[in-house]
Amino acid sequence: MNIVEVFAENVFNDKVMKEKLPALVYNQLKITREQGSELDASIASVVATAMKDWALEKGATHFTHWFQPMTSITAEKHDSFLSKLDGKAISEFSGKELTRGEADASSFPSGSLRTTFEARGYTSWDPNSYAFIKDETLCIPTAFCSYGGEALDKKTPLLRSMEAINTQALRILKLFGNTEVTRVLSTVGAEQEYFLIDKDMYSKRKDLVLTGRTLFGAKLPKGQELEDHYFGTIRPRVKAFMKELDEELWKLGVYAKTEHNEVAPCQHELAPIYTRSNVATDHNQLTMEIMKKVAEKHNLVCLLHEKPFANINGSGKHNNWSLATNTRVNLLEAGSSPAENAQFILFLTAVIKAVDEHQDLLRLSVASAGNDHRLGGHEAPPAIISMFLGDELEDILLAIEKGEKAQNKQRKVMKLGVNTLPAFPMDTTDRNRTSPFAFTGNKFEFRMPGSNYSISGANVILNTIVADTLMQFADTLEKAKDFNSELNTLVAKVITEHKRIIFNGNNYSSSWVEEAEKRGLLNLKSADEAIPYFKLEENIALFERHKVFNRKEVESRTEILLDSYVKTINIEALTMIEMVKREIYPATNLFLLDLSKTIKAKKDLTLDIGLASEDLELFEHISKLTQKTLLEVKNLEKLLDDAKKITDIETLAHFYHNSILSSMSYIRHLCDEIEVNIGKNYYPMPTYTDILFSV
Ligand code: ADP
Ligand code: MG
Repeated sequence: MNIVEVFAENVFNDKVMKEKLPALVYNQLKITREQGSELDASIASVVATAMKDWALEKGATHFTHWFQPMTSITAEKHDSFLSKLDGKAISEFSGKELTRGEADASSFPSGSLRTTFEARGYTSWDPNSYAFIKDETLCIPTAFCSYGGEALDKKTPLLRSMEAINTQALRILKLFGNTEVTRVLSTVGAEQEYFLIDKDMYSKRKDLVLTGRTLFGAKLPKGQELEDHYFGTIRPRVKAFMKELDEELWKLGVYAKTEHNEVAPCQHELAPIYTRSNVATDHNQLTMEIMKKVAEKHNLVCLLHEKPFANINGSGKHNNWSLATNTRVNLLEAGSSPAENAQFILFLTAVIKAVDEHQDLLRLSVASAGNDHRLGGHEAPPAIISMFLGDELEDILLAIEKGEKAQNKQRKVMKLGVNTLPAFPMDTTDRNRTSPFAFTGNKFEFRMPGSNYSISGANVILNTIVADTLMQFADTLEKAKDFNSELNTLVAKVITEHKRIIFNGNNYSSSWVEEAEKRGLLNLKSADEAIPYFKLEENIALFERHKVFNRKEVESRTEILLDSYVKTINIEALTMIEMVKREIYPATNLFLLDLSKTIKAKKDLTLDIGLASEDLELFEHISKLTQKTLLEVKNLEKLLDDAKKITDIETLAHFYHNSILSSMSYIRHLCDEIEVNIGKNYYPMPTYTDILFSV
């Protein structure tokens, strides 16, 4: 296949628009896209007709507004192009249908923003993303708002945060005398990790089917200790999946680039080429959806849960983030002249200050019930936010901080706007894989997001907090009498105040936890602890300052996040109870019955073999385990009942974390002990070995 030919063949992109739209309409649309202005109704109807004709040519029959509600997935509601005129069937798609749709907001999470009597919400076309065809349906990317205009989706705040960072970054560029740049965009490349397992195995595990992760499963005799899977040869069945996945993604204009095996057995990764953050977010959602669909065709199942298997690495999503100008300059890349480097250092310190001041927001942007199993698990970054800059860059910053006073034989005095930085990019072989937020030469890699979750949240936060710092910098520097001297003072001050966030060592070590505490860094261990920080007054003020969220939106989102945390664990607890009662307990009893028969038979034999004490011991051990399990299941049921009486969502979330999860963890411990002690034919579901070594 010819990659270049198939690439974006199902996308109504700039090239297609140029071809299909009258020049006037095309130009008007382009201006709207670039300036974010209102689209004229007459233009919308011309675009709609062109889009429909193109879609019909490609075999589409339906259209849908495609949006990103506050779940992890995308939503669509299909309508056909069919219309009736004088008793005849015609195809039709109006400008109004393109630009606006009604959606029943009551079917999607909305926190306190929707009361049942005001269930209407609407979707509106987002001309910043291209329409595309998927499943014979023309998908129109849209934003989703309540009738009162509050955002009910993940796209609207992302676009707003991109505006915020554009505004503030342009102010900074102007200070450096840069007047050519008219737009600054945040760019994102999201590496997606996932597991691929056999569908027949999957179907036999109720926990995987209902919760996306295994609630039981003893440790594998062979895990990933041999490190023979990472970058290993890709097996034919997986290779076939990847080939088809790439092709499907390319047709949709997704720049799928790198595919390889990950650390754990059956774990893989897909990395796209970066693009602007709203498009990267759309594309990541599409990627996850297409991964699941393509896997089915190969009798495989794609698991996107952050921790499908205990004691095996979980899956994350590395969010590579940077800032780019419309003149194609990466603002986080060191330049070749002293002035360019001063600008680079200023943007870099803006990120440092932002990350240090808003650890809470970054942490909660990746908080979910699923990701809690991964963060801090000696495989993923801990729940503590810190930054890796590498020794070389840190040295430069420290030299700037110390100014002239630091002058000595080894270290030259660094003065911004005068000195040029040493050669860049830095040595990438020395990358720190344990850091949650690592500078990788010309971008930051935020490694905490979970595999299942939309990257929108993390990027909304990143854009907003950096915009806020840039705003403060611009406020100061715009007033400066001597720009270079003020710049040096500012950068030195920021480094002094925020260098505690820089940590180049091993984030997985326990000494780091202690050290971080000494430095006063936040350690929000679980999602229920992190999420409530969202609605702190200072955070609401931050979001309102940059028009990313208003107070109501922040409050409703906090509620949705906590609610989803509770619901997720509730489903897991119920699934666990059902599996114990209907599968594990009966199966174990069969084993015990057979064992008791064996023991009796042995006793009946007149041979002098003693009292078969090991057999009896095993019998007793397993019997006790089943009894303890039943007892704890009863306790869990009671806890779930108690939970129903708690009305405050924050208290409820803590209760699920402290009581329900620990009860579940005990049940799992007991059942895993049963699993390794009873005959294989008795255990009622595929084990980790069956699942992870069958593809
Ligand atoms: P690795 O981390 O494996 O060395 P790369 O450095 O090539 O891989 O990049 C990893 C991801 O970061 C890719 O998705 C890539 O497109 C993305 N990336 C590279 N440059 C930027 C940038 N300027 N902004 C955002 N993402 C970027
Ligand atoms: Mg990476």
